[in-house]
Amino acid sequence: MIVPWMWRRKLVSGNGGVVATGLTLRTNSETRLPAFFYRLSSRAQRTWLKSDTIERYDYVPNDAARNSLDALMRVLKTGNLAGCTTSARALAAEICRALATPPVSVEVRSVRPRNQRGELHGLFYPYDPRMRRPPYIVLWMRTAQRHDVVKPKTFVRTLMHEVGHYLDYALLRLEDSYHTQGFFKRESSLVRALFNS
Ligand SMILES: [Zn+2]
Repeated sequence: MIVPWMWRRKLVSGNGGVVATGLTLRTNSETRLPAFFYRLSSRAQRTWLKSDTIERYDYVPNDAARNSLDALMRVLKTGNLAGCTTSARALAAEICRALATPPVSVEVRSVRPRNQRGELHGLFYPYDPRMRRPPYIVLWMRTAQRHDVVKPKTFVRTLMHEVGHYLDYALLRLEDSYHTQGFFKRESSLVRALFNS
């Protein structure tokens, strides 16, 4: 997930009625594009379509990444917040290093916040030029209701989801990070690379 205000901004920033005329990029959303796509500016539509066409990263985990993943899976079972933070940071750093991007900050918090729509698993805050705040990821390690530690594989998938948002900017140089089918395929490619290596 990315910060909600980003989505609100996206929904109102579009140029109503603009369609992707002249764009010939293949899209993964063969059936139909989401309604909000047509409210995006043509520039944002190009970003969205580019995001949708890229399906995987060239990522092969090395020993350091595998060790970080093992450590994260182990420490999640203990529920130790500091240990979980250290391992999640190490894993994200290894992925960034392998993909030759600057590292991204990762903060792990305890109990997921929730509202009537559900509970929050993670957030990605893009670089904020006004605050000069570097991009960072926030993840929660315990469920909102029972305060159980999240299943290790679910936690890793959430981490890869937020890392995916970061890579949209840092690696793919997209101007925005959208939940396209391409985005979810890239997320899955990271998860598969980690667990099948
Ligand atoms: Zn997201």
